[in-house]
Amino acid sequence: MGELIPLHGDAQESWQEQLKGAIRTPEALASALHLSPEDLPYSSAADREFPLLVPRAFAARITPGDPQDPLLHQVLATPAEDHVDPAFSKDPVGEVAQYAGAPGVLQKYRGRALLVVTGQCAVNCRYCFRRHYPYAENAVSSTQRLADIDALLADPKLGELILSGGDPLLLSDKQLRAISERIQHLRPDVTLRIHTRLPIVIPDRVTRGLEDALRVCAPQVVVVVHSNHPQEIDGATADAIGRMRDAGATVLNQSVLLTGVNDDPTTLALLSDRLFAAGALPYYLHQLDRVAGAAHFEVPVERSRRILGRLAAMRPGYLVPRLVREETGAASKLEIAPDYSVSPGS
Ligand code: SF4
Repeated sequence: MGELIPLHGDAQESWQEQLKGAIRTPEALASALHLSPEDLPYSSAADREFPLLVPRAFAARITPGDPQDPLLHQVLATPAEDHVDPAFSKDPVGEVAQYAGAPGVLQKYRGRALLVVTGQCAVNCRYCFRRHYPYAENAVSSTQRLADIDALLADPKLGELILSGGDPLLLSDKQLRAISERIQHLRPDVTLRIHTRLPIVIPDRVTRGLEDALRVCAPQVVVVVHSNHPQEIDGATADAIGRMRDAGATVLNQSVLLTGVNDDPTTLALLSDRLFAAGALPYYLHQLDRVAGAAHFEVPVERSRRILGRLAAMRPGYLVPRLVREETGAASKLEIAPDYSVSPGS
């Protein structure tokens, strides 16, 4: 094994510098985790299509020396991704075939519009339902984006504008502030919702400038973070969530139910506890969208229902996320009823 690469960078590094210094090769990841490359089953074909990307702030929460770590599982391109399952597709929820409007604009549900503002993320999650999304075809300039926002805000039926991606918090504070000021100026009744994994992956992304951008639309601003495992929530992530709350945002969490990561009620209960202590409520637990390359992560739906039933018996209702799945053409996400027939101890 080569020289160990330190997990923590310079404490003074900006979030942009941390992203620039992210781990991008399996050898560097193995070295940082005190593993040998042979410990990490790896698919170079999957990596070519959807490259490994792990910032050190996230890698620091992976247990060194443990090739089965649940955070590692989420970021490592393994040979399982090469398995072709015809039930899994490149457009699993019909975003390309069914909902595409103007470039980068998706209108799935009434009263809501979603903007795909970037194709970049701070981490590449192997189960991502947009891992094959044609981002390049949907890229627009900042000027065009603001013009699109103006057009969407002109619709009196619009109640919520959603920023998604990729990760929308990869936009600069200035760009985000321009969007929130536009909403506040033209339609202060419209809620701004931001779906992001960045406060979990690089907590330093929650800068003063971002807090100011959120404050412009507060209290009608919702940040939906994305965390799947309690190990992802440490002091720095909790602090980042707290600062977004202090800026007036409601902070919710969504997770994806993933085999080998969080497919047991005890793990999910601990995740809810840590999120709540940080100031975020568990909102959705997604049944995996059937995206090509991610079949090995799927939890069979009957098992998902039992896991949720057991979680519901372990925690109060506000700490139990709704189990949902997305179906192309449906008027909303579809809720999957928990199976309460299994006792907590069984
Ligand atoms: S951060 Fe979100 S959009 Fe980006 S790869 Fe992960 S799940 Fe997909």
